[in-house]
Amino acid sequence: MKVSECTSRPILAACGLKDIDYQVDTYVGCEHYCYYCYALPQAETDWSKEILIYNDIVDQLGKELDEIPPQTIYMGYHTDPYQPCEAEYRQTRKVLALFLKNGFSASILTKSDLVVRDIDILKEMNAAAISVSVAFNDNQTRRLFEANTIDTEKRIAALNKLKEAGVRTGALLCPVIPYITDAIQMIAMLEPYADVIWIYGLSINDRSGQNWLNIQKILRDQSPTLIEQIEPVIFSKDHSYWAELRESLEMLKKDRKLNLNIHI
Ligand code: SF4
Repeated sequence: MKVSECTSRPILAACGLKDIDYQVDTYVGCEHYCYYCYALPQAETDWSKEILIYNDIVDQLGKELDEIPPQTIYMGYHTDPYQPCEAEYRQTRKVLALFLKNGFSASILTKSDLVVRDIDILKEMNAAAISVSVAFNDNQTRRLFEANTIDTEKRIAALNKLKEAGVRTGALLCPVIPYITDAIQMIAMLEPYADVIWIYGLSINDRSGQNWLNIQKILRDQSPTLIEQIEPVIFSKDHSYWAELRESLEMLKKDRKLNLNIHI
């Protein structure tokens, strides 16, 4: 993987999430290169070969943070803050240390267990929250769709360590891929370790986007009939598959009194 320095540019960006105004991507690009990633169509480099790194992240971000009051900043919007190169470059750790020094907190989404390395900083923050995203019940299927991520069980083990350390935890069950992801079973795996679980279905808008081209290839290689089954569901939010799954999830939420945020 080539890690190139990118020219100076603003790092703090607006965040469209509820209750969080700003987000920071500690890298430009994502080595995880999940084939379904919604950010792929806007990628600046080929993520299978090259990602970009800010050479002045602490100085630049420090100046930008001086302009806003201390608050929670989201990390993991367009790129994973704990992708493999973070073990060497420690951009995310540097940013967390900067946040802590200036009274900010972080809400982080990752597919990696490297996040446990930073428990010492996260514990000191005012209500930091860490979520892991997962989508596959078995690792053989996961490798087809996200070959460079770690096993689902390791992500759940990371959640457990964070929870034991007193850090708020969450899980993003996303993307639920029709006929592949068993959402009910995944919730049973996650629920003991996640304070809250968000659930989103696979949604693709553009049939010419790189993510859909990738998924088509994976499905065709696996089973030519699977693609005929899945395609109409992915491109229609009103498909009965989603309505039935939504009903089952709502029932589970009510019966088990689970903290589920259902967005399908
Ligand atoms: S980890 Fe997230 S940002 Fe990175 S490729 Fe996968 S879906 Fe995209």
